Amino acid sequence: MSDNPLTEEQVKQLNEIASLPQEQQQEKLPAFLKTLSPEQLEFLKKQQGQGGCPFCLIVEGKLQSKTIYQDDKVLAVLDIRPATAGHVLVLPKKHCSVMGQMNDEEVAHIFMIANKLASLLFETLQAEGTNIFVANGQTAGQTVDHVLVHVIPRFKDDGLQLTWTGQEVEDAKLEDLKNKLSGKIGVKEQVVEEAPVIEEKEEKAEERFPDF
Ligand SMILES: [Zn+2]
Repeated sequence: MSDNPLTEEQVKQLNEIASLPQEQQQEKLPAFLKTLSPEQLEFLKKQQGQGGCPFCLIVEGKLQSKTIYQDDKVLAVLDIRPATAGHVLVLPKKHCSVMGQMNDEEVAHIFMIANKLASLLFETLQAEGTNIFVANGQTAGQTVDHVLVHVIPRFKDDGLQLTWTGQEVEDAKLEDLKNKLSGKIGVKEQVVEEAPVIEEKEEKAEERFPDF
Protein backbone atom coordinates (compact mmCIF):
# COMPACT_ATOMS: atom_id res chain seq x y z
CA MET A 1 0.00 0.00 0.00
CA SER A 2 1.68 3.18 -1.17
CA ASP A 3 -0.52 5.44 1.00
CA ASN A 4 0.36 3.53 4.16
CA PRO A 5 2.26 5.98 6.38
CA LEU A 6 3.61 3.15 8.56
CA THR A 7 7.10 1.88 7.94
CA GLU A 8 7.66 -1.75 7.03
CA GLU A 9 9.19 -2.33 10.44
CA GLN A 10 6.10 -0.84 12.14
CA VAL A 11 3.74 -3.03 10.11
CA LYS A 12 5.82 -6.05 11.10
CA GLN A 13 5.66 -5.08 14.78
CA LEU A 14 1.92 -4.55 14.54
CA ASN A 15 1.37 -7.95 12.97
CA GLU A 16 3.44 -9.55 15.71
CA ILE A 17 1.32 -7.88 18.37
CA ALA A 18 -1.90 -8.88 16.56
CA SER A 19 -0.83 -12.53 16.63
CA LEU A 20 -0.47 -12.54 20.43
CA PRO A 21 -3.21 -13.67 22.80
CA GLN A 22 -5.61 -10.83 23.60
CA GLU A 23 -4.22 -10.17 27.10
CA GLN A 24 -0.69 -9.74 25.79
CA GLN A 25 -1.98 -7.55 22.97
CA GLN A 26 -3.53 -5.22 25.51
CA GLU A 27 -0.22 -5.06 27.35
CA LYS A 28 1.97 -4.33 24.33
CA LEU A 29 -0.26 -2.24 22.11
CA PRO A 30 -0.24 1.03 24.15
CA ALA A 31 3.57 1.20 24.14
CA PHE A 32 3.63 0.64 20.39
CA LEU A 33 0.97 3.28 19.75
CA LYS A 34 3.04 5.84 21.67
CA THR A 35 5.80 5.50 19.06
CA LEU A 36 3.47 6.59 16.24
CA SER A 37 2.91 10.06 14.80
CA PRO A 38 -0.60 11.59 14.87
CA GLU A 39 -0.85 10.94 11.13
CA GLN A 40 0.03 7.28 11.61
CA LEU A 41 -2.45 6.96 14.47
CA GLU A 42 -5.20 8.45 12.35
CA PHE A 43 -4.40 5.96 9.60
CA LEU A 44 -4.61 3.04 12.03
CA LYS A 45 -7.94 4.24 13.39
CA LYS A 46 -9.39 4.29 9.88
CA GLN A 47 -8.02 0.81 9.22
CA GLN A 48 -9.63 -0.46 12.41
CA GLY A 49 -12.98 0.91 11.35
CA GLN A 50 -12.78 -1.11 8.16
CA GLY A 51 -10.90 -4.22 9.11
CA GLY A 52 -10.51 -4.25 12.87
CA CYS A 53 -13.02 -7.05 13.37
CA PRO A 54 -11.27 -9.76 15.41
CA PHE A 55 -13.12 -12.55 13.61
CA CYS A 56 -12.11 -11.18 10.21
CA LEU A 57 -8.53 -11.20 11.49
CA ILE A 58 -9.00 -14.85 12.47
CA VAL A 59 -10.39 -15.62 8.99
CA GLU A 60 -7.32 -13.89 7.48
CA GLY A 61 -5.02 -15.91 9.70
CA LYS A 62 -3.77 -12.76 11.48
CA LEU A 63 -5.10 -13.90 14.84
CA GLN A 64 -4.61 -17.38 16.16
CA SER A 65 -7.56 -19.68 16.68
CA LYS A 66 -8.33 -23.30 17.44
CA THR A 67 -9.91 -24.26 14.15
CA ILE A 68 -12.29 -27.21 14.07
CA TYR A 69 -13.50 -26.89 10.48
CA GLN A 70 -13.36 -24.56 7.50
CA ASP A 71 -14.46 -24.34 3.89
CA ASP A 72 -14.77 -21.43 1.45
CA LYS A 73 -17.81 -19.99 3.26
CA VAL A 74 -17.47 -20.67 6.97
CA LEU A 75 -14.97 -21.21 9.75
CA ALA A 76 -15.61 -23.09 13.00
CA VAL A 77 -13.33 -22.35 15.96
CA LEU A 78 -13.31 -23.13 19.66
CA ASP A 79 -14.53 -20.20 21.76
CA ILE A 80 -11.55 -19.12 23.89
CA ARG A 81 -13.98 -18.06 26.63
CA PRO A 82 -16.43 -20.94 26.42
CA ALA A 83 -19.84 -21.15 28.07
CA THR A 84 -19.05 -24.83 28.55
CA ALA A 85 -16.04 -26.90 27.48
CA GLY A 86 -16.36 -27.58 23.76
CA HIS A 87 -18.26 -24.36 22.91
CA VAL A 88 -17.76 -23.86 19.16
CA LEU A 89 -18.29 -20.69 17.11
CA VAL A 90 -19.29 -21.02 13.47
CA LEU A 91 -18.82 -17.80 11.51
CA PRO A 92 -19.18 -16.65 7.93
CA LYS A 93 -15.81 -15.90 6.31
CA LYS A 94 -17.36 -12.82 4.74
CA HIS A 95 -17.87 -10.04 7.31
CA CYS A 96 -21.56 -9.73 8.25
CA SER A 97 -22.76 -7.87 11.34
CA VAL A 98 -26.08 -9.67 11.66
CA MET A 99 -27.53 -12.78 10.12
CA GLY A 100 -30.03 -10.74 8.08
CA GLN A 101 -27.11 -9.62 5.89
CA MET A 102 -26.31 -13.17 4.82
CA ASN A 103 -28.00 -14.70 1.79
CA ASP A 104 -30.26 -17.77 2.02
CA GLU A 105 -27.59 -20.15 0.79
CA GLU A 106 -25.05 -18.90 3.33
CA VAL A 107 -27.56 -19.18 6.16
CA ALA A 108 -28.52 -22.71 5.12
CA HIS A 109 -24.85 -23.69 4.96
CA ILE A 110 -23.84 -22.20 8.31
CA PHE A 111 -26.72 -23.97 10.09
CA MET A 112 -25.94 -27.25 8.33
CA ILE A 113 -22.37 -27.03 9.64
CA ALA A 114 -23.60 -26.00 13.12
CA ASN A 115 -25.90 -29.01 13.18
CA LYS A 116 -23.08 -31.38 12.19
CA LEU A 117 -20.89 -29.88 14.92
CA ALA A 118 -23.68 -30.36 17.45
CA SER A 119 -23.79 -34.07 16.52
CA LEU A 120 -20.02 -34.24 16.86
CA LEU A 121 -20.21 -32.75 20.37
CA PHE A 122 -22.78 -35.38 21.33
CA GLU A 123 -20.56 -38.16 20.05
CA THR A 124 -17.10 -37.08 21.09
CA LEU A 125 -17.67 -35.10 24.29
CA GLN A 126 -20.66 -37.12 25.45
CA ALA A 127 -22.71 -33.94 25.60
CA GLU A 128 -26.21 -34.60 26.88
CA GLY A 129 -27.68 -31.73 24.88
CA THR A 130 -26.63 -28.77 22.74
CA ASN A 131 -27.79 -25.20 22.29
CA ILE A 132 -27.43 -23.58 18.87
CA PHE A 133 -27.62 -19.87 19.50
CA VAL A 134 -27.33 -16.60 17.56
CA ALA A 135 -27.38 -13.10 19.04
CA ASN A 136 -28.48 -10.54 16.44
CA GLY A 137 -27.81 -7.07 17.81
CA GLN A 138 -26.47 -5.68 21.08
CA THR A 139 -29.87 -5.84 22.78
CA ALA A 140 -29.88 -9.56 22.09
CA GLY A 141 -26.49 -9.96 23.75
CA GLN A 142 -24.25 -9.59 20.70
CA THR A 143 -20.79 -8.44 21.81
CA VAL A 144 -18.79 -8.65 18.56
CA ASP A 145 -19.82 -7.10 15.25
CA HIS A 146 -19.56 -10.37 13.26
CA VAL A 147 -22.22 -13.08 12.96
CA LEU A 148 -21.49 -16.02 15.25
CA VAL A 149 -23.48 -19.23 15.51
CA HIS A 150 -22.73 -20.60 18.96
CA VAL A 151 -22.84 -24.37 19.32
CA ILE A 152 -22.76 -25.07 23.03
CA PRO A 153 -22.53 -28.60 24.41
CA ARG A 154 -24.69 -29.08 27.50
CA PHE A 155 -23.97 -31.31 30.44
CA LYS A 156 -26.08 -32.11 33.45
CA ASP A 157 -25.49 -29.46 36.15
CA ASP A 158 -23.24 -27.34 33.88
CA GLY A 159 -24.76 -24.25 35.54
CA LEU A 160 -25.45 -22.47 32.26
CA GLN A 161 -28.70 -20.48 32.24
CA LEU A 162 -30.35 -20.12 28.85
CA THR A 163 -33.91 -20.37 30.08
CA TRP A 164 -36.77 -17.89 30.52
CA THR A 165 -40.14 -17.74 32.18
CA GLY A 166 -42.97 -17.62 29.67
CA GLN A 167 -45.11 -14.48 30.02
CA GLU A 168 -48.88 -14.46 30.37
CA VAL A 169 -50.44 -13.15 27.15
CA GLU A 170 -54.04 -12.59 26.12
CA ASP A 171 -55.43 -14.26 23.04
CA ALA A 172 -56.27 -10.87 21.48
CA LYS A 173 -52.61 -9.87 21.69
CA LEU A 174 -51.55 -13.14 20.07
CA GLU A 175 -54.16 -12.62 17.35
CA ASP A 176 -52.87 -9.09 16.75
CA LEU A 177 -49.28 -10.33 16.48
CA LYS A 178 -50.36 -13.12 14.17
CA ASN A 179 -52.03 -10.60 11.85
CA LYS A 180 -48.94 -8.40 11.84
CA LEU A 181 -46.61 -11.25 11.01
CA SER A 182 -48.35 -13.95 9.05
CA GLY A 183 -47.64 -14.26 5.35
CA LYS A 184 -45.02 -11.51 5.43
CA ILE A 185 -41.64 -13.23 5.60
CA GLY A 186 -41.15 -12.83 1.86
CA VAL A 187 -41.02 -16.55 1.14
CA LYS A 188 -43.74 -18.15 -0.95
CA GLU A 189 -45.65 -20.60 1.19
CA GLN A 190 -45.73 -24.07 -0.23
CA VAL A 191 -48.01 -26.40 1.62
CA VAL A 192 -48.50 -29.75 0.03
CA GLU A 193 -52.15 -30.77 0.12
CA GLU A 194 -52.47 -33.56 2.62
CA ALA A 195 -54.06 -36.79 1.54
CA PRO A 196 -57.51 -37.31 3.11
CA VAL A 197 -57.16 -38.92 6.51
CA ILE A 198 -58.33 -42.50 6.58
CA GLU A 199 -60.89 -43.08 9.32
CA GLU A 200 -59.15 -46.16 10.62
CA LYS A 201 -56.05 -44.11 11.42
CA GLU A 202 -58.09 -41.54 13.31
CA GLU A 203 -59.53 -44.23 15.53
CA LYS A 204 -56.07 -45.53 16.26
CA ALA A 205 -54.88 -42.05 17.20
CA GLU A 206 -57.79 -41.70 19.60
CA GLU A 207 -56.90 -44.98 21.21
CA ARG A 208 -53.37 -43.81 21.80
CA PHE A 209 -54.40 -40.46 23.26
CA PRO A 210 -57.57 -41.16 25.24
CA ASP A 211 -57.42 -37.73 26.90
CA PHE A 212 -58.14 -36.00 23.58
ZN1 LIG B 1 -15.67 -9.51 10.72
